[in-house]
Amino acid sequence: MLLCDFHIHTKYSDGSVELRKVVDIFGQAGFDAIAITDHAVNGDSLIGKIAYKFRFTITENNFNEYLENINFEAERAWNKYEMLVIPGVEISKNYLSSDKSAHILILDIKEFIPPCESYESIFLQAKKQQAIVVACHPHHIKGEIRNTLYLWNNRNKYGKYIDAWEIANRDDVFNVVSLKKYPYIANSDFHKPRHLYSWKTLLNCEKNIVSIKKCIRHNKGVAITLFRG
Ligand code: ZN
Ligand code: ZN
Repeated sequence: MLLCDFHIHTKYSDGSVELRKVVDIFGQAGFDAIAITDHAVNGDSLIGKIAYKFRFTITENNFNEYLENINFEAERAWNKYEMLVIPGVEISKNYLSSDKSAHILILDIKEFIPPCESYESIFLQAKKQQAIVVACHPHHIKGEIRNTLYLWNNRNKYGKYIDAWEIANRDDVFNVVSLKKYPYIANSDFHKPRHLYSWKTLLNCEKNIVSIKKCIRHNKGVAITLFRG
């Protein structure tokens, strides 16, 4: 099975490690596929504006450079480690209220999607790009003051757009996802080197982006594992 992590941040947003070093960390740890998913934050809230001030966000202006660098690293990762590197973003709708906030991974993104647009518009643009849509950390995280509950609370409305839900994120497991029998994956939400040791996804499919996307969508041959090196 392929050892995968589809939720990874770099210095392009609020991660502490440069993209190239991140690729080497996962390559040397023996991963088969990873996705780089830096934050693209909404600028229409107080918290969103802070992210822009500290440049903790991908913007329309640096998106192409971000994508080019990921693609450059993807070629290097394949030659050096036989590891796939998938370009992505984490659309981050941050508000003071947990009930209003949501984070969404867009995997295999090709064009910038403005994070301030409506959920429907974001999901439709992702679908048009044939990207995978993942609802991140969709339920309460222990010790976290601000949670991202909007998509879970509105799952009946938006569930049809979501290819998979994070059933586990770093150390947390969201049993509600299994109770609802939703399609699932598990990711590290990597921001620092120690986050390598966390929940991961195992996929029983061929090592190419088309097969990986199909496997996540059909959600057959998917398992999760707690990676400890
Ligand atoms: Zn997040
Ligand atoms: Zn994240």
